[in-house]
Amino acid sequence: MIKTKLKNFGLAKLLIGLSVIAIPFVEMDQDVYANPSPAKVTVTATNLNVRESPSISGKVMGLVHKGDTFVVMKKKNNWDQIKLKNNQTGWISHAYTAPPKNVGATVKVDFLNVRTGPGVSNPVIGKLDWGAQITVQAEQAGWAKIVSSSGIKGWVNEYYITKHEPNKFHTQAFSKPPTSKNTTDHDKKSSAPATVSPKTTTAKTTIQGPLSGKTIVLDPGHGGVDIGTTSIDGTHEKKLTLETAKAVEQKLKNAGAHVIMTRTNDTYISLPERSNISNQNGADAFISFHYNWIKDPSVNGMTDFYYQKSRDNELASHILKEVAKTTKLENVGTRFNNLSVLRNNSQPSTLIELGFLSNKQDDAVVEGSAFNENVAQGIYLGLLNYFSKK
Ligand SMILES: [Zn+2]
Repeated sequence: MIKTKLKNFGLAKLLIGLSVIAIPFVEMDQDVYANPSPAKVTVTATNLNVRESPSISGKVMGLVHKGDTFVVMKKKNNWDQIKLKNNQTGWISHAYTAPPKNVGATVKVDFLNVRTGPGVSNPVIGKLDWGAQITVQAEQAGWAKIVSSSGIKGWVNEYYITKHEPNKFHTQAFSKPPTSKNTTDHDKKSSAPATVSPKTTTAKTTIQGPLSGKTIVLDPGHGGVDIGTTSIDGTHEKKLTLETAKAVEQKLKNAGAHVIMTRTNDTYISLPERSNISNQNGADAFISFHYNWIKDPSVNGMTDFYYQKSRDNELASHILKEVAKTTKLENVGTRFNNLSVLRNNSQPSTLIELGFLSNKQDDAVVEGSAFNENVAQGIYLGLLNYFSKK
C-alpha cells in the first residue's frame, strides 16, 4: 500500500516538474531566438511605469528611471518585457526607451571592486586602480556594468567613477509605485529618484588635508627576484624600500594626498611599468626609494637624483633637505643620474638613496626603529615646501 501511494506521488511530481519546464519554452518569443545577443533598452523618461501586462490597463508594479538599462525578454506591440532585479519581469512602453549607449568613464578611487552583479552581495571578480579607463555598458541601481581597457568585465559602484559624458540623472533600477495616484507612463513632474547610498562599498575615500588634491606616486625600489643590494646585517634592499615607502604612504594619506604605490608587496615590477604609473596618473610627484651600497665601507650619506634639472631638482632638493634633518643622515646633495624611472617619467620625479647599507653608521640608522617614521616626516615636510613654492 505504501509502495503504490509513493508511486502515484512520484508520477504526480514528475508531471508537475515537466509542466514547469515546458511552460517557459511554450511562451518563448520567436524574436528572442532570432536575436543572438540580448536586446537592451535604456529608459529615456524621468520615471516610467512598469506594468504586469503589455497594456496601459496593466497593473503598475513599479517604476524605472531615466538612464536605467534593461535586457528585453520579449516584445509585444509597442511594449518591452524587461528583466528586473531578482529575475522579476515587467512591461514598459517602448516609446520611452532608446538603444543603450556605451559611455567612457574613469575610476576615481584606489582599488575599486568589480563584482559579478549590481550590489555588494555579489562576489568580487576583479579590482581596478585609480585612473583606469572603463566603458559603461549598462546602469542599474547606482551600479554600472563595465568593461575596462584591460579587459575586466563586471559591475562597479557608480559613485566611484566619473563618466566622460555627463549623466545628471541618478539611476535606480526599480522602485515601488508612488503613493499618489500616477496613471501615466511618462510623468515628468515626479520628483527625482532617491540617491543610492555608497556606504556599503569597500572602496576608500581620501581625507582633506594640506596635501589634498595632490597625486603622489611612491616607488619602493626592486622587489621579487630583484633583491637590490644587501645590508651589512644581511637585509635585502627590496624589503627596506617597501617598509619605508609604506610608512611614507600612510603619512601622506593622512595629509590628504592621493597616494599610488608602484608595488605593495614583494613582487617584481619592471622599470617602465613604474614610470608608466606616474605618467598615466599625471603624478604631481614621483619618488623612488633606494638604499646605496659601495665597496668602500667608509662612504656614507644620502643623495637624491634628478634627470631633468629644471623639472626635478626642486622636488629632489626639498625632499633631501628635510629627510636629512629628520633622519640625521649626511646630506651629500642632489645629482644628475640617467635612471630609467626618471628618464621615462613625464612628471616631476626623483630617486632618493637613503644611506649606504655598506656603511656601519648609516646601516645602524637605516635599520633603527624610528627610521621609517623619520623618512615619512621628512618627505611630508619636503613636499609641503615644494608645493608651497610652486
Ligand atoms: Zn636600489
